[in-house]
Amino acid sequence: MDNKTLSHRDLKTLWHPCTQMKDHERLPLIPIRRGQGVWLEDFDGRRLIDAISSWWVNLFGHCNPRINAAIQDQLGTLEHVIFAGFSHEAGIELGERLVAMTPAELSRVFYADNGSAAVEVALKMSFHYWQNVGQTKKTRFVNLHNSYHGETLGALSVGDVALYKDTYAPLLLDVHTVASPDCFHREPGESCQEYSQRKFADMERCLAEHHAEICAVIVEPLVQCAGYMRMYDPVYLRLLREACDRYGVHLIADEVAVGFGRTGTLFACEQAGIAPDFLCIGKGLTGGYLPLSAVLTTDTVYDAFYADYETLRAFLHSHSYTGNALACAAALATLDIFAQDDVITANRGLAQHMAAAMQDLEDNPHVAEVRQTGMILAAEMIKDKHTRTPYPWQERRGLRVFEYGLEHGALLRPLGDVVYLMPPYVISNDEIDQLARVARDGIQHATASA
Ligand SMILES: *Cc1c(COP(=O)(O)O)cnc(C)c1O
Repeated sequence: MDNKTLSHRDLKTLWHPCTQMKDHERLPLIPIRRGQGVWLEDFDGRRLIDAISSWWVNLFGHCNPRINAAIQDQLGTLEHVIFAGFSHEAGIELGERLVAMTPAELSRVFYADNGSAAVEVALKMSFHYWQNVGQTKKTRFVNLHNSYHGETLGALSVGDVALYKDTYAPLLLDVHTVASPDCFHREPGESCQEYSQRKFADMERCLAEHHAEICAVIVEPLVQCAGYMRMYDPVYLRLLREACDRYGVHLIADEVAVGFGRTGTLFACEQAGIAPDFLCIGKGLTGGYLPLSAVLTTDTVYDAFYADYETLRAFLHSHSYTGNALACAAALATLDIFAQDDVITANRGLAQHMAAAMQDLEDNPHVAEVRQTGMILAAEMIKDKHTRTPYPWQERRGLRVFEYGLEHGALLRPLGDVVYLMPPYVISNDEIDQLARVARDGIQHATASA
């Protein structure tokens, strides 16, 4: 088998996610034969460093021996069982450990099987909670400008990335969208903290005016990942927690992308010292092996559903693969690695190395900003740095970096004009240097010509 034969077969039958399939008339589709650590190898024998953790899911490398062994172990005893009325050890232990490692207020775990489904669960639970306690006017949600929470209709409704959302607008929930605290637009001399704090005024105004009809505010703590890796200061989360309490509104923290060490702490909310009413996790939960997500919530929420059957207060949401045993085993192995290897401390060193390796990009006249939160580092390409004029999106400069990366041993997949590194935590300093070189030269290449 080679790349050409397989991609030909693929393109005759399959329809790929987030892809204009016509692009593949020119862009090669890349069938991957095997993965090992941060490396992927295609059917022509070409090797690529997975700089984006295969869409932000992989934490400890491809074919990690410890996670492989845990799944194999589980496979020998139970692959899956209906999770309504039935349970299993891996699901129970995972729930206990998630409760133990998240803020004390979060005491209940509801499983789903992907990040969008977790967001749907949190939205429905919040709305349903208010129904159950007699606050029937609460029917709406507040989100941030440029936010992303997944692609199913409810999750898409509370997102705000035009590229994914605009087409479906007639189908979506009506939400209140307020200014993002993202620091990219701060004034010269203004700190990120000052800017994020200043931007809270819009949220405060919205909650003051509409709180009686609002179920919850949903945010991605610290980094709007799909929204071009825009970053903000923890002060915003502290102000938001305080305002949600004051106005009687839930706070949903969508840590599907930023959870499990991405921002430098196990969960991003820790940096603000807050606990949300709902915490959504997914992606890295299984180390990037199997689809699994979860929503953690409080006793207060749980108790509002706990009643005699005839009251019809139960949360009847379900997915066929809820609490899949193989996925839970992969998640437990992932949590074991966190517990045994002091990952968060080791990541601090890797993050510093990434910063140093990418630092000189700040002097590039076509890089508006190099920003970093923990294990996420992003460089935003721009046409004119002084007037902050972006490249016309039709020029697809990011795509040029992607193609350059493929030719030079790196899977970089820029978001628009934003080139970023979000590698598995098993990357070495040498591999970071290699990625930094490809990113730097790729940006040079992509911005050199018209
Ligand atoms: C990726 C993502 C989701 C959606 O998760 P899927 O597993 O792709 O459905 C939700 N929220 C955030 C913040 C994400 O980055």
